[in-house]
Amino acid sequence: MKKRKRLWLVIALIVIIFLGIIYLITPDASKKLDNYGKIVLDRQGKILRAFLNENEQWCFVPGNAQIPPKLEKAVLCFEDRYFYQHPGFNPVSIIQAVSRNIKAGKVVSGGSTITMQVCRLANPGERTLYKKLMELLQAVKLEILYTKKEILSLYLNNAPYGGNILGVRAAALKYFAREPAQLSWAEAALLAVLPNAPAQLSPGKNQQLLIDKRNRLLHNLAKKGYIDEITCELSCREPAVDNKRNLPCEAPHFTRYAAAKQNSPEIRTTLDLQLQNMIERTIKFQGGYLHENGIRNLSALVVDNQSREILVWIGSQDFYDDEAQGQIDGVLAERSPGSTLKPFLYASAIDDGLIVPETMLADVPSYYGVFQPKNASRKYEGWVTANEALVRSLNVPAVRLLNLYGFERYYYFLKDAGLTTLFRTAEGYGLTLIIGGCEVRMPELAALYCGLANQGRFAPLSYLKDEDKAKPVQLISPGSSWQILNVISELKRPGAEYYWHQFDNQWKLAWKTGTSYGHRDAWAVGTNPQYTIAVWAGNFNNQSNPMLSGASSAGPLLFAIFNALPKDPEKYWFKMPLNELEECEICAETGFAPSKWCEKDTILVSKQAKALRFCNYHQPFQVTKDSKNTVCSKCWKGIEHETKAYLVYPPQVRKYLKLNGYPVQEIPPHIPDCPTRYKAKLQIDYPQPGAMIFLPRDIDLQQQRLTPQISGYAPETRLFWYLDNEFAGSTIGKENISLLPENGFHTLSIIDESGNSVSTTFQINVSQEK
Ligand SMILES: [Zn+2]
Ligand SMILES: [Zn+2]
Repeated sequence: MKKRKRLWLVIALIVIIFLGIIYLITPDASKKLDNYGKIVLDRQGKILRAFLNENEQWCFVPGNAQIPPKLEKAVLCFEDRYFYQHPGFNPVSIIQAVSRNIKAGKVVSGGSTITMQVCRLANPGERTLYKKLMELLQAVKLEILYTKKEILSLYLNNAPYGGNILGVRAAALKYFAREPAQLSWAEAALLAVLPNAPAQLSPGKNQQLLIDKRNRLLHNLAKKGYIDEITCELSCREPAVDNKRNLPCEAPHFTRYAAAKQNSPEIRTTLDLQLQNMIERTIKFQGGYLHENGIRNLSALVVDNQSREILVWIGSQDFYDDEAQGQIDGVLAERSPGSTLKPFLYASAIDDGLIVPETMLADVPSYYGVFQPKNASRKYEGWVTANEALVRSLNVPAVRLLNLYGFERYYYFLKDAGLTTLFRTAEGYGLTLIIGGCEVRMPELAALYCGLANQGRFAPLSYLKDEDKAKPVQLISPGSSWQILNVISELKRPGAEYYWHQFDNQWKLAWKTGTSYGHRDAWAVGTNPQYTIAVWAGNFNNQSNPMLSGASSAGPLLFAIFNALPKDPEKYWFKMPLNELEECEICAETGFAPSKWCEKDTILVSKQAKALRFCNYHQPFQVTKDSKNTVCSKCWKGIEHETKAYLVYPPQVRKYLKLNGYPVQEIPPHIPDCPTRYKAKLQIDYPQPGAMIFLPRDIDLQQQRLTPQISGYAPETRLFWYLDNEFAGSTIGKENISLLPENGFHTLSIIDESGNSVSTTFQINVSQEK
């Protein structure tokens, strides 16, 4: 008795181990399924584009987790009525099938459950008895591993629906251009009967057979009480589908990018299909005009400023324009930005106390080693406000400002603000950084303007709907951002009068154009509280075109897009950040902080800006009552005189202002019979023109200063010194001045009280050891 009991135990144990091994070695059928092609959706969930899977099949991940009820009822009624009851196989239907097959003398019925069909889908190929057995084992394993709903989903997502269409979502889209949840009863019934014999019953052929099969199922559904008689009759009258639809292929450049970047089978993006289509039409319309002028390629991007989400992405004027390389995506191309990076330098310089928009900047020949920046007009203005220099996009004042601000700091500003295309070191770009010497990608350039519109807080743009957004970094103060946005919203720009009328628009836009060196790239970037729009025009083959310019080629397109976009009246223009601005006194003439000799003006400036540099240009002179002569202590005896301030221009500035016909206030000549008047000519003895001067460092590693030597000046006379046209100080008589020039080329100018001036250009080499 005891022995027998033990034997039973051993047998039971062996059976359990055997079953366990079988369970373990039976592959999980679900692992071989779900080979989805990618599907890209717009911000409302509309399909932008669907891609084939690795096996060139249309097969998509289900749109939502719920199985559409109509489809579930139709499929279970047709395929597997006891699906929710059986353990993976149905012994009754297997016996029925076997007897039916014997009667018929051939295989007419499989007796397969949905679970077994899932296993068969995972192991395609010839049906053998061994395979059938494996299917049965796998079915049991599936039932243990998954819920019934999950198994039904596996079936629906992988069942064949004719041709290379797999899964119910691909079938619903290809046959009815609808998502499965939107199917009618007739459509659901049709999709339920299709996988049963997809080869014989693919839509388009055997229409009547298909309709008969579908209608039999509809009547069964009515019998079961799932649908009423009227629904059944009406559904039976619906035509079957006769051909496959093309799946959408919208925003082809963008969807190609998103699918290449993302691994998820369903990519939810921020693109707005409606806006995309509208702007595509705008681009095509405008592109025709540019094409006549040999400008073949256009790209554009529209961004929602609040969310920093990309709404429109146009890689080229026409994806299918092979002749003009339409498949290239200009949005992703790395191109020279021309002048489009200038506003950020001006804003940063305001924060740094270097300028306010009213500050005068020199526009005179400037040399930085071999680099000599030139304005597009090839002219020099002499002296312009920062405001005008930016609006007119003058290169020389911008380069001079960058030199003052420091190209290295600006280089790191651009990196912090999101430019990833600066592949050289800061020195590698140097001062060319501000006039298009680097390369940018459109989304990063747009992100810069979007940052300015977001009160100087910079962050990358996003194109994925549910993506975690990067935390913005504050790089420019809200006050200075607002100020620069207003500067570049000044619409009437000299030099753009010819096409100005085209840009006339009631909606305000802050914008900047850029033209790259050699007329290869034309940019226009604009921003208002609602949108940032970036436009590029040029040729993908890098062909230069003299007709190409930011203002004439890209500008009209920018405004055409801006006009077409829907506007929110609440977001007409940026609100003045009152808490961020404070009143500040400036010299009315030079725009620097006023000295006691300056006439004053009051402006608003960012509270976070550093103290503005002082005006050294207004200097006091002793003049006769009629202001006709200056006098000194050696000659004013017996002459009535008074103190009067004069603007002492840097010599080059004075020269170009006069050349351009601007009235320049002259300092009156010194009284002729002054006994100390020295007739010799003012001259610079050191440094000599063209000299290369080595400045070593002291023991404490401080750079030694340069002390110029001059002769030929009158004793007691006041001299004004300028290094690189920036005021460097004033001296009287034999007083020395010491300067701290950096490595590179410099111009030293001296002007005396009578307006005589002398200049020298030299090169400085500072010891690099630190
Ligand atoms: Zn002043
Ligand atoms: Zn005198």
